Amino acid sequence: MGEPSGAGRIEHVDVVVIGAGQAGLSAGHHLQRTDLDFVVLDAEDAPGGAWQHRWESLRMGTVNGIFGLPGFPTPPLDDAEPSRSAVPRYFADFEDDRKLPIRRPVRVSRVEEAAEGRLRVHADAGVWVTRAVINATGTWNNPVLPQYPGTESFAGRQMHTRDYVSAEEHAGHRVAVVGGGISAVQLLTEISRHATTFWYTRREPVFREEGFRPEVEGRETIERVTAAAEAGLPTQSIVSYTGLVWSAEAREAAARGALDRRPMFTGIEPHGVREADGTLTTVDTILWATGFRPSLEHLAPLNLTNEQGGIAVRGTEVRADPRIHLIGFGPSQSTVGANRAGRAAVGALKRRLAGSPQSLHRV
Ligand code: FAD
Repeated sequence: MGEPSGAGRIEHVDVVVIGAGQAGLSAGHHLQRTDLDFVVLDAEDAPGGAWQHRWESLRMGTVNGIFGLPGFPTPPLDDAEPSRSAVPRYFADFEDDRKLPIRRPVRVSRVEEAAEGRLRVHADAGVWVTRAVINATGTWNNPVLPQYPGTESFAGRQMHTRDYVSAEEHAGHRVAVVGGGISAVQLLTEISRHATTFWYTRREPVFREEGFRPEVEGRETIERVTAAAEAGLPTQSIVSYTGLVWSAEAREAAARGALDRRPMFTGIEPHGVREADGTLTTVDTILWATGFRPSLEHLAPLNLTNEQGGIAVRGTEVRADPRIHLIGFGPSQSTVGANRAGRAAVGALKRRLAGSPQSLHRV
């Protein structure tokens, strides 16, 4: 675990897994049960995927629920512990137990065609030539930052969810929170206890009065997201399918008026935002809780993106290039989905590679 490759080295493997979050670890677990030669490349310094970067106040009691890694039940977890320490510790234990061939920190910069139908994976620590890639790079490194007129003129602070540290740092400030998802509601709930907040969304947020039943609404959501991914549509936020759920904290915030939503502002000025009704609201900070998109820039040389801006898949396999599997993508963007997708990708590659010439060997 954690052994970096020497820069300039070229290795040959059957499968390169890019990313060692929940999805990449699941793929690694299932690959270990085949005779395929593989490596997992991860850009982080330590285990935990994107969880190690979540904000301090996202605790085990406030996450949506973490599904265990394959064959490795989660230990009893303290609801009060930040997920940024509890989940990475659990991932580290899994890695120690499984002895997966994970190299870190290794950041993949591009994947391109190589000779004889192989792929060449370029990273800061070397080059891997492979028969297939399982891409498990998540979304954390690709925050969505919408552009509004006057963005550059703003004299205050602009930040994205991924930069958020704590509500206390906003104490006494006026903060515009933009976005209609779960993160926006959670951040508004806590920042509004310390600051004056204003909530902006493009559409009226939809809160579900009844709970979210995994076996009913969960299944329907997965079916709809799967259909969109198979049709090659660009990925949408999960909340656009599920709506928001009333947590106890959200109800409490709504009762204080902290979830009174305003329509999206029309522009940004040095000291505030221009409201849809033409008035100016002064703010110190604009917090863009506007979500993330899949981190797939390194696959650009393979031209997988269609004219709609999406990548069509069949299960986890990219339709345009069956050597590439995307996991933690589309319907598998959850801990349970990531687990299943890792297994599915390995199953499909095992069948596909079995008929091909023997594995290449390391040089
Ligand atoms: P990640 O955990 O993001 O792992 C991707 C890995 O790939 C990282 O280690 C990254 O460094 C690496 N990587 C990226 N690019 C490269 C590259 N070019 N080269 C090498 N390595 C690279 N899901 C749930 O089921 N329950 C929840 O409670 C929940 N809460 C969430 C809260 C937030 C704020 C967010 C943003 C998401 C949440 N999710 C939740 C969804 C969550 O993202 C997934 O469940 C899951 O953790 C994602 O795992 P992953 O392996 O796909 O990605």
